[in-house]
Amino acid sequence: MDPQYIRNFSIIAHIDHGKSTLADQLLLKTGAITEREFHNQILDDLDVERERGITVKARTVALNYKHTDGQMYELNLIDTPGHVDFHYEVNRSLAACEGALLLVDAFQGVQAQTVANAYAAIEVDLEIITVVNKIDLPVTRIDDVLEEVETILGLDPYEALKVSAKKGTNIEDVFQAIVEKVPPPSGKVDNPLTALIFDAKYDPFRGVIVYVRVVEGTLKKGDPVRFMRKAFSDEVIEVGQFRPKGEPCKTLSAGQVGYIITGQKQLDHIDIGDTITHPKEAELITPLPGYQKPKQMVFCGMYPIDSKDFEKLRDELGRLSLNDSSFSFAPETSDALGFGFRCGFLGMLHMEIVQQRLEKEQDVDLIQTAPNVSYEIKMRNGDVVKIDNPQDVPDAGSIDEFREPIARVNFIVPKEHIGSIMQLCAERRGEYRTTEFIGGDRARLEYDLPLAEIVYDMYDKLKSITQGYGTMDYEVQRMEPAELVKMDILVNAERVDALATIVHRTTADRRGRGLCKKLKEEISKHQFQIPIQAAIGGKVIARETISALRKNVTAKCYGGDITRKRKLLEKQKEGKKRMKQFGRVEIPQKAFLSVLSAG
Ligand code: GDP
Ligand code: MG
Repeated sequence: MDPQYIRNFSIIAHIDHGKSTLADQLLLKTGAITEREFHNQILDDLDVERERGITVKARTVALNYKHTDGQMYELNLIDTPGHVDFHYEVNRSLAACEGALLLVDAFQGVQAQTVANAYAAIEVDLEIITVVNKIDLPVTRIDDVLEEVETILGLDPYEALKVSAKKGTNIEDVFQAIVEKVPPPSGKVDNPLTALIFDAKYDPFRGVIVYVRVVEGTLKKGDPVRFMRKAFSDEVIEVGQFRPKGEPCKTLSAGQVGYIITGQKQLDHIDIGDTITHPKEAELITPLPGYQKPKQMVFCGMYPIDSKDFEKLRDELGRLSLNDSSFSFAPETSDALGFGFRCGFLGMLHMEIVQQRLEKEQDVDLIQTAPNVSYEIKMRNGDVVKIDNPQDVPDAGSIDEFREPIARVNFIVPKEHIGSIMQLCAERRGEYRTTEFIGGDRARLEYDLPLAEIVYDMYDKLKSITQGYGTMDYEVQRMEPAELVKMDILVNAERVDALATIVHRTTADRRGRGLCKKLKEEISKHQFQIPIQAAIGGKVIARETISALRKNVTAKCYGGDITRKRKLLEKQKEGKKRMKQFGRVEIPQKAFLSVLSAG
């Protein structure tokens, strides 16, 4: 395929501005999918994506488009996720493209992730085509939106397209702009092979499916290939493109995006960002720079409910991490929970998604511990240690400096909510930076905030303060010393390691009280009284007591009709699955997450 007739582009936007719908519409217009498939949001095919109505994984599709000049073009489209947790996924996609369609909702206008994604595209020098979407909405603010595009993003408003992805209005303009504005890829088909691995997926029957963008040269079935970083060679048994389902093709050459299968079932040979070449050309090429490894921001423990499932969980985590290279896992043990893994994620949504994928796609039942951000401790002896687990915090006496990650946060909010946002940020130890007024009575506020104060519930707080109109985006900037301490939780006078958290000294009392109260609600009554205590060092700072169960309460369960009783038993069994016995006390899964809602 002559690279001159190839165009590679990503679709980027804030969440819900219509990326997946536009992608589907482009598929529909080029005949890649049917009308019925269009109404089904064909690209969001993971269970979690359908359930939540969001895109989690970037998707690649090759389209054939006949341009007005009569020439056939191959358009490789990448649909991307919008949520802040998935910036890494977006950045990887952008690196495989020459252009980007930047969608902006005709009513909502420029939002926090519009800004973040636009800047990411500008940074890698992509040609940006601005597309105002949803012009069919009964109320739009198109002129305001165009002004925002100019003032906040610095893009030319006169070149912006106006479309409805849902109704299919002005989609031809989109195709025209892609062909005419996005530059063709620069590689040459007869150069030595250089291909970038940008994603991968495990298939139990065919082995690993490796997603590649060919930068130089040509790849075909039967070719021996070398994975440079892994210094490993294999033979290609299939090359193909996504249309949108994987379809074998003869060759993939410079500028094209597709997949290769080598039948490989060993996951550790595949490294996202690695370069593939022909073994005999390995000396001739320079490996591609690949990707900067994403930094996991949020960590939690994941333990199999049944300890027999430990090995299975390890295998499933390995498989999932191949398809999602942005999460990490390492074995750990807990007195309370046994053998499990400490897993790292890009954010809370990412954590929820991984957990859900493990349970849904892989059928593993888990106990998950409360998430924490990653800290750093400078010891008195000069060593600096990274802390991903509150259990690893050393003795207070040996700590010189306890450091936490600080993020730069951008809020875009209606003007009337500026005061409340400032108050929220002040409560969260925020440091104010700037305010900038933008079109349509809105403002952009910039703050530096401790990551730990953002990840758990800042987004929900923002939404409730602004009645849903505010948006935010953040990026971790640096580590800074803070007055942090480890807070232990004792249940029935025994320390439960998996309930320990790291808190700021000024909020420790409040959090300790909140957590004890919450645990009291989550742990059910037993035959005996259970004290619950929060402690720092040896000092108890909060306490609650779960009173003992009275005999006649259980008596109620007996008698009554048999189906009701069976239902009750079934329910208890269901509940059991998510319990861990700790000493004489049963602690349910929900209790481990109490810290999230304990204020
Ligand atoms: P994404 O998060 O950017 O991928 O957004 P989706 O494509 O999932 O769309 C979010 C919502 O906006 C869905 O309910 C779509 O049906 C709706 N939507 C997308 N494009 C349009 C449009 O052109 N007009 C209208 N009225 N709704 C749209
Ligand atoms: Mg989407």
